[in-house]
Amino acid sequence: MSAAQRILLVEDDDALAETLAEQLALHSEFSLTRAETAKQALEVTGSIRFDLILLDVGLPDQDGRETCKILRTKGIATPIIMLTGAATDADTILGLDAGANDYITKPFRFGILLARMRAHLRSQQNSETAVLAIGPYDLRPAVKVLEMRAGGDKIRLTEKETNILKFLHRAGGAAVPREVLLHEVWGYNAQVSTHTLETHIYRLRQKIEADPSDAQILQTVEGGYCLQL
Ligand code: CA
Repeated sequence: MSAAQRILLVEDDDALAETLAEQLALHSEFSLTRAETAKQALEVTGSIRFDLILLDVGLPDQDGRETCKILRTKGIATPIIMLTGAATDADTILGLDAGANDYITKPFRFGILLARMRAHLRSQQNSETAVLAIGPYDLRPAVKVLEMRAGGDKIRLTEKETNILKFLHRAGGAAVPREVLLHEVWGYNAQVSTHTLETHIYRLRQKIEADPSDAQILQTVEGGYCLQL
């Protein structure tokens, strides 16, 4: 099962960016977007919600720490790993002021970066502030709310509905068989049938789809369901 985690790489060094893109492409769990400047980074984060941001300290138009600070003041809680040329930057990077989660000093081994990325993605997904992008919505699992990204309309979800979306989101748009979803959401020992799941999917579509009879977000596929992320 592939989980497409949206990664934003903000880096002006083409050689480094290309190497990282090639290496990340070997892991189907990631989908990478690149920005070369702070300006581009601020633009793209305004329209796309990323799961993790890799942010160079030495950007051509701004100190990456300043960019990080701006992202935080805009309410972006996405984990940010700073890429820095000097280990001495550590204090100012991790200081509350800048608000980065972690940093890695260049040159670094890809395996080290990958391990850090995965650790931050895992802890973010389990945290109270987790926000998962689903179609035009942001899902906040901790408060069981789905919020229209553009308009701010809020949809209250039940616990089961939240868990269905959370698990489908983890699959990153891949199809999840009904039985797998049933077990993940209700537990392996629950005496529920796929009919129960179908009923919940039906109600969920009434809440989230513009036309519930022609679902565009929570789609039915051979044997199961998938999300159009
Ligand atoms: Ca740079």
